Amino acid sequence: MSEPVVVRPAIAIVDDPRFDAHEDPTGPHPECPERLTAAREGLYGTLPTSERLVVPAREVSEAELTRVHRSDYLDKLRERLRDSGGHLDPDTYFCRGTREAAWLAAGGAVDLARTLVSGQATQGFALLRPPGHHAVPSRSMGFCLLNNVALAASAALDAGLSRVAIVDWDVHHGNGTQDAFYADPRVLFCSLHQYPFYPGTGAPHEIGRGPGTGFTCNVALPAGCGPETYGAAFRELLLPMLTSYAPELVLVSAGFDAHARDPLASMRLDSASYGAMAGSLLELAQSLGHGRVGFVLEGGYDLAALADGTAAVARSLRGERIELPDGKLHAAARLAIDATKQQLKPYWPALAA
Ligand SMILES: [Zn+2]
Repeated sequence: MSEPVVVRPAIAIVDDPRFDAHEDPTGPHPECPERLTAAREGLYGTLPTSERLVVPAREVSEAELTRVHRSDYLDKLRERLRDSGGHLDPDTYFCRGTREAAWLAAGGAVDLARTLVSGQATQGFALLRPPGHHAVPSRSMGFCLLNNVALAASAALDAGLSRVAIVDWDVHHGNGTQDAFYADPRVLFCSLHQYPFYPGTGAPHEIGRGPGTGFTCNVALPAGCGPETYGAAFRELLLPMLTSYAPELVLVSAGFDAHARDPLASMRLDSASYGAMAGSLLELAQSLGHGRVGFVLEGGYDLAALADGTAAVARSLRGERIELPDGKLHAAARLAIDATKQQLKPYWPALAA
């Protein structure tokens, strides 16, 4: 008797060697090409070739870019990137390979969203650099030039969806993504981040503006939070809101810098936490009847944590499920979650229970 053959649906993967040409010309930088090597190791080491649907990266078009970014910013950026290298802000370097890498990363994120919307695959992971979630419509900042995840969400809206959720578990607040959709109820943006911390935004009272009021959720966590706090935030805030919102696509700004080993931040997540958070979102998407979840790489500066974190997400994409972490919260972590709940309760009856 031979083993039954399990046919798994393919996972869409965006990757391109040209992302590696984006490198600080002045010396070592935490946002380095080795990050992607580590993420590839984690993802490809877990996901067999037969389970991958390769989505080639291609340069984002001007029409796609201007759904999020201002034309005058794009003109200035292109002009600046003609130089052989330098800095766009104190944190954000560029080199000769940056223009192409950034445009390919953004185009790859857009095509990941399109692939999921079209049904060619239901889940995917975009392994890309430079990251994007700090890039605001009119400015690059914090290692980010173009907002990949925001461009992916806007492409999904353009393709006909009316509700997209973005869950940002990078340790830094996704200020650029928040800015892009702050007044737009078609995107529910949820960020869990260390606070106060770079970039300074992401307070609980930042909940959106005009018709977008109530569609931005900031879980502003004190330094030192671990798996139990992220588990509680998912159970008490994110999952009830997402269930009520019923997004047609879930995008994840997947940074791995809330890991205990990360050199830039001070959270205490372990690799299993990333698998648990990913699994809970995959389960939610399945319960909504479509299963569509796309992960887009953001930060994460410890190479081993990055490899382990992406491997944990890949295992959840292969069907492994880990319970969200549980346990007693520090008083400051409890206060932080309650503060967000208090702000959003008027807009989400599911949080009132
Ligand atoms: Zn980050």
